[in-house]
Amino acid sequence: MDQFKNLNATHLYCERCGMATPVRERLLLILPDGELYEYICSRCGASLGKRKTTIGRGEQPGY
Ligand SMILES: [Zn+2]
Repeated sequence: MDQFKNLNATHLYCERCGMATPVRERLLLILPDGELYEYICSRCGASLGKRKTTIGRGEQPGY
């Protein structure tokens, strides 16, 4: 799984909603070696986590 293009909705558990909700990705930062995204609950807008994409190394889920 080196190429994980996130077109489908990712679901994460949202404490505010009390359920797994579809999330939006928001670009937070562009780094020299990748990009930092934030996961936003599409129901209430809470931040559910971050994800860093690293150029040339695929992606690592970040919490
Ligand atoms: Zn929520």
